[in-house]
Amino acid sequence: MKVLVPVKRVIDANVKPRVKPDGSGVDLTNTKMAMNPFDEIAVEEAIRLKEAGTAEEIVLVSIGPAQAQDTIRTGLAMGADRGILVEVDGIVEPLAVAKILKGVVQEEAPGIVILGKQAIDDDASQTGQMLAALLGWAQGTFASKIVIKDGVVDVTREVDGGLQTVSLKMPAIITTDLRLNQPRYASLPNIMKAKKKPIDTKSAADYGVDPTPRLEIVETVEPPKRQAGAKVASVGELVDKLTSEAGVL
Ligand code: AMP
Repeated sequence: MKVLVPVKRVIDANVKPRVKPDGSGVDLTNTKMAMNPFDEIAVEEAIRLKEAGTAEEIVLVSIGPAQAQDTIRTGLAMGADRGILVEVDGIVEPLAVAKILKGVVQEEAPGIVILGKQAIDDDASQTGQMLAALLGWAQGTFASKIVIKDGVVDVTREVDGGLQTVSLKMPAIITTDLRLNQPRYASLPNIMKAKKKPIDTKSAADYGVDPTPRLEIVETVEPPKRQAGAKVASVGELVDKLTSEAGVL
């Protein structure tokens, strides 16, 4: 079985985003970028399936600027086999990503596609669900455990207040939640080996997709600044402040 893993290049999770002065979005100039953390979990899960003998090949696909090649290389260094870069500059919204991924799926015919549950830049949590709808495939979202047997994948899902297990007929779409696994670090020899692994370059037009955004960003604002703390001299003063200033008592 082939596993397809879409990996998105996003702002590094440890970097504090800066909003552009005109509020049109986040300023990414000279900002450290990395693979979306949920996609690292997806790559790790695919590698574990390969190590267990359930998967034979892991193909990564990234839709983004030429630099998204680095994101693919990161996944290849973890253990994936090859990559596809669909070069598109600027914002690509989840629907356009899902349409492009549909084209990739039709070419590659994977048994499962493992996506992140959400990209930490747009926080959309839409792509996996849209892809499942476009393909007419079953979907198991927010997975914390995956078991594959006899053409069926059992996905344990993190739902409010507990866990739910669903059984999907393959081919199927899975999206990863935080507790599915702990992604590995790439070793130096594997980073070197990854440089020789193949990456195909395509365009959105190759899949007949127009990636022009449909949404207009009206405003982007920083969260309100935290106010400085204050010292109180007594419990009485604390209670007074909590009552009259904070209004929480
Ligand atoms: P989203 O729906 O934007 O929150 O993204 C959910 C998941 O879809 C991500 O974790 C990725 O696995 C995949 N995805 C979204 N955008 C891209 C992209 N530009 N390239 C590759 N994969 C993507």
